[in-house]
Amino acid sequence: MNNELLAELLYPNIKTLPADIEARYPKRVLPEGAKVTRFAPSPTGFLHIGNLYGAFTDERLAHTTGGIFYLRIEDTDAKRTVPNGIAIIIETLAKLGVIFDEGAVIDGDNGAYGPYRQSERAEIYQTFAKQLIREGKAYPCFCTEEELEAIREKQESEKLNPGYYGEFAIWRDAPIEKIQEKLDNGEAFVLRFRSEGNINNKLKFGDEIKGTIDVTENDIDHVILKSDGIPTYHFAHAVDDHLMGTTHVVRDESWLSTLPFHIQLFKALGFKMPKYCHTAQVLKLDNGNKRKISKRKDPEAALTYYHSQGYPVAAVREYLMTLLNSNFEEWRLANPNAPIEDFKFTTKKMSVSGSLFDLDKLNDVSKNVISRMTAEEVYDLTLAWAKENDPEFASVLEADKEYAVRILSIGRGGKKPRKDIALWSEVKNYMSFFYNGLFAPVDAVPKTFEKSDVSAILNAFAAAYDENDAQDVWFSKIKEIASANGFCPDMKLYKADPSAFKGSVADVSMFLRVAVTGRMNSPDLYEVMQILGRETVLARIKAFAS
Ligand code: GLU
Repeated sequence: MNNELLAELLYPNIKTLPADIEARYPKRVLPEGAKVTRFAPSPTGFLHIGNLYGAFTDERLAHTTGGIFYLRIEDTDAKRTVPNGIAIIIETLAKLGVIFDEGAVIDGDNGAYGPYRQSERAEIYQTFAKQLIREGKAYPCFCTEEELEAIREKQESEKLNPGYYGEFAIWRDAPIEKIQEKLDNGEAFVLRFRSEGNINNKLKFGDEIKGTIDVTENDIDHVILKSDGIPTYHFAHAVDDHLMGTTHVVRDESWLSTLPFHIQLFKALGFKMPKYCHTAQVLKLDNGNKRKISKRKDPEAALTYYHSQGYPVAAVREYLMTLLNSNFEEWRLANPNAPIEDFKFTTKKMSVSGSLFDLDKLNDVSKNVISRMTAEEVYDLTLAWAKENDPEFASVLEADKEYAVRILSIGRGGKKPRKDIALWSEVKNYMSFFYNGLFAPVDAVPKTFEKSDVSAILNAFAAAYDENDAQDVWFSKIKEIASANGFCPDMKLYKADPSAFKGSVADVSMFLRVAVTGRMNSPDLYEVMQILGRETVLARIKAFAS
């Protein structure tokens, strides 16, 4: 076979040679040990929590070594591409604090190693593919869908491995005249890789996360260029990661099955293989069983969920880090206030078998993160969230910033800050009783108490209330009112003989709390009353007592 002739016949328009392309991609000049990573999604409009898991790994590997983290868009499958897919990727990740140094941007490219959209790189792929043909490492295949289907059926019925290999690789050694004839007829072809692999050969592969793994050689002649000249993922990633200087490929473990083919491709192309980090799947518990988080079943699978629910970026990052590195939590306990960037991220501490994602745990992390913020920060972040998701609440917050910050200051800043907010979407409910326009009682005083007792106590409090009282004076007045109405002012005494009283001072406080806040639980009632102001406190108490 005259391979040179075949290459010209198949791709006559490709005039460039690999060396011409290589010259456009000079070696990166980076500090010793710097890692170059890429996030390489398809612009389908959907980003999965597993994408974020990988993107964080990429980002940390690059940024802890003085390297580069870039965005490459794998849009070779037009059917899966949505019009604003790139904007969705960039914006969704930016909202979660993932920022690229280089790569595709909404209206073009940023960086010297582009184009960063695979759809704009056809000439590059075809140049390398043409070289493989010249070297006898690739050949055209004119099989129709029906022929391929017939091969599949035969393999299934004879219980053979599926795929285009051995006796099934009918175009592998086709004479050039036959190829010429098909081309003259204008028939479509795909370009296949000529595999020299044998499935009886095993080899060892060093993965950065999984360690040393056994892989079986590939014997299938996979497609590298489709009939429209557009590459498959396998071929495109090899060419791109080589030219773009990727040192570490972080990708989902589902790619392990085609890794043997990728090893062959790099070798055939004469490229040095980057290091591979195959990430475990993100799992969740479902009725006690672990399963993969599913786009279809679990709202938390979508990255947009975290933004729309109002998780602080810092909480998502913090939680993801606990999933990514098994020693992160321990580090955090020892370094409660250190910036997350100080943590020494490593692929060696990543899960090999699967990372269990737990929304309750994320909520706890989020409560902790928010409890460490100042009232001002909580205000700013809640407002930013509300502007996008609840404009009405945003205008309430903006109408009186000082008032809102006072509310958010309750129980904040001390050694044991309150931990009752996990999401920005919860803040409205948390603050609502401070605003007459949002006040909507949720709890009532239990029916076990006489209505007349409750009213008498509330009226007595209203008569005695002085907003200038210090907290201890305020509380002794409550005790006096309790006592005067048959409620025990002292908890110890009450517990010794509850039947001697109608209730305790705790019940009296609860009447006041329910009247003023509409709930059984609230932050410190004295502070609540101070912020609400005399007029509102008395109006709510009187309304409740009547
Ligand atoms: N486009 C591939 C995907 O979305 C990327 C895999 C890789 O990062 O190499 O799964």
